[in-house]
Amino acid sequence: MKERCFGAVRFIPGQNKGKYPYCHSVYIEGDGILIDPASDRERLIHLKEGSGVQHVWLSHWHEDHIMHLDLFDDIPFLISSADAPPLSDVEIFMDAYGFSDETIREYWRPLLINQFHYKPRKPDRFFKNGERMHLETVTVEVIHTPGHTPGHCSFFFEEPRVLFMGDYDLTPFGPWYGDRESSIQDTIASIERLKHVPADIWITCHETGVFEKDPGDLWDQYLGIIKRREDKLLSLLQIPKTMDEIVDACIVYGRPREPRAFFSIGERGIMGKHVEDLLEKSVIKKENGHFFV
Ligand SMILES: [Zn+2]
Repeated sequence: MKERCFGAVRFIPGQNKGKYPYCHSVYIEGDGILIDPASDRERLIHLKEGSGVQHVWLSHWHEDHIMHLDLFDDIPFLISSADAPPLSDVEIFMDAYGFSDETIREYWRPLLINQFHYKPRKPDRFFKNGERMHLETVTVEVIHTPGHTPGHCSFFFEEPRVLFMGDYDLTPFGPWYGDRESSIQDTIASIERLKHVPADIWITCHETGVFEKDPGDLWDQYLGIIKRREDKLLSLLQIPKTMDEIVDACIVYGRPREPRAFFSIGERGIMGKHVEDLLEKSVIKKENGHFFV
């Protein structure tokens, strides 16, 4: 993948097509704003030495968006207030993922510190929903797009009409809403909102990364994955199942994957949200630790 420029908005591809644990970054030339510094460590070191990064912006708190934030620990950074707490303490970070099992925390703690260069940080300022900033090179609107995380932000750069959508990434995997404070309904509302922004270029943080035409059917396919997960769960619950059995059905990931400490929490997180949602709507019931239609 190559770097691309749309006016002052530079797309910096992440390693391995921005697949986890990497993500694509964006850099605003002239203003020196770097968004989501987890693309390519060497490239970001070069960027820092060159034109002078003045601010780091984070779409949200996930580790695959902050991996190289440590390179910029002398530079102010911005994030939404709802997404700031996990960056203040590694234990709060793991709480936000809903890791309650100490074995899982023991797996993640060194990984976050060594691979993701986690260091506690406090933002210099919070984004406000809907704020418009007249930067030197471009006007940007901050769009609060919760669901993936409670404070996830997207950015609409008005003059080149570039929409940065962060982790609403239109990938075949589908949306992630597996954290303690993620929400299926907010995810759907945020995707619908992004779909109606009058953009000419769409940038996401993983895989394809740049869409130069309206993603078209991809919007509905991406949203449809949420419904497909729900349908599969409802069909599974024709026969009562425990939460562990729901996780073992691999509805999200399709098959068991290693490391289990990583994939089974994703499976549990996302399917847990569907279970909660269906219980709340009285579509399923729970008795003696078993869920059923
Ligand atoms: Zn994310």
